[in-house]
Amino acid sequence: MAKTIDFPIFKTKTPGVTGKYDFSDPVARQAYFEAKAGNEIERLKKFFAAKGTFIAYLLAKKAAGKGTYARMLVEIFSPDYLVHLSVGDIVRSVDEEVSDQEKRADLEKFLKSHYRGYQSVEGVFADQKNRDTKGLSHSAETILALLEREISRLGKKSFLIDGFPRNLDQVSYSLFFRQLVGYRDDPDFFALIQIPESVIDARMKNRVVCPRCQLSRSLMLLPTKEVGYDEEAKEFFLKCENPDCRGERLMPKEGDNLGIENIRDRLDRDEELVRRALDLYGVPKVLLRNAIPVDQAREMVDDYELTPEYYYHWDPKLKKVTTLEKPWIIKDDAGIDSYSLLAPAVVVSFIKQMAETLGV
Ligand SMILES: [Zn+2]
Repeated sequence: MAKTIDFPIFKTKTPGVTGKYDFSDPVARQAYFEAKAGNEIERLKKFFAAKGTFIAYLLAKKAAGKGTYARMLVEIFSPDYLVHLSVGDIVRSVDEEVSDQEKRADLEKFLKSHYRGYQSVEGVFADQKNRDTKGLSHSAETILALLEREISRLGKKSFLIDGFPRNLDQVSYSLFFRQLVGYRDDPDFFALIQIPESVIDARMKNRVVCPRCQLSRSLMLLPTKEVGYDEEAKEFFLKCENPDCRGERLMPKEGDNLGIENIRDRLDRDEELVRRALDLYGVPKVLLRNAIPVDQAREMVDDYELTPEYYYHWDPKLKKVTTLEKPWIIKDDAGIDSYSLLAPAVVVSFIKQMAETLGV
């Protein structure tokens, strides 16, 4: 196996910032971003206000948290300026169009005038239908056409593109994508995320999902506020926070107990993709690390920026569960004892590098 990818460690510890921020509270989270990256946020806001736009490609292994990082950035800079474009979501939304006669006709018309490639429109629809069952995915040309359509619908904004390029064939397309969508002189960059496989594995194995609203949490890493105890099975469980779900029990998803071995091929492909992007000349890169070696944590980050491990205590007399936490230490891909950073700390690194990359 090739040498593990090793991005620089980013210092989020900031002189004069001594408060402790509760990341589960959106207001405290914004205060945290202001405290740690306020200067860069202000400069970026000026860039957006002056109609500046860019295109960023988020590349990482599956389950690295790309969607979470993107959502936080959109929350900071407003969806009026910055949009998270998930190729997975776009392709899923096409399902609905294909099954609706009128929408299908519109899509067909669009593809006939905008899609250039080796397939007939019927072939594209067949790929859409078979993509899960037969493990097929859309060609790069189809993804390009769908992305182009989405961008023209949204108007001139900045985009965080998640899910393209998806494989090595698509990397070259991404290099010319901004020209294709009329962002000719706008900056574009790759945001590459390095995450230990042990973190992905633990996230998958401990994932639980609300059967009603699909809220996804983790008993070990991201509990809900209310935790229950099943006295018969002698196990703790999370209760959904969504008021409509009335404390519904979050359940494991089938196959998740196998962890990363279930998605080994995909992880290897994703790693190759990050590696390839890293080798590109001429395109700026933002390098993001999910983990930090234990022996460097004190100097580089604050304690509350580290992912804790949650555990629980059941009091049979009071019939009450107490949620407790302790530091979570994992091995990174090189076998070094490390902490995993919580998403906002990675986002601070993202904001600062983005400001520098865009030269704002
Ligand atoms: Zn729910």
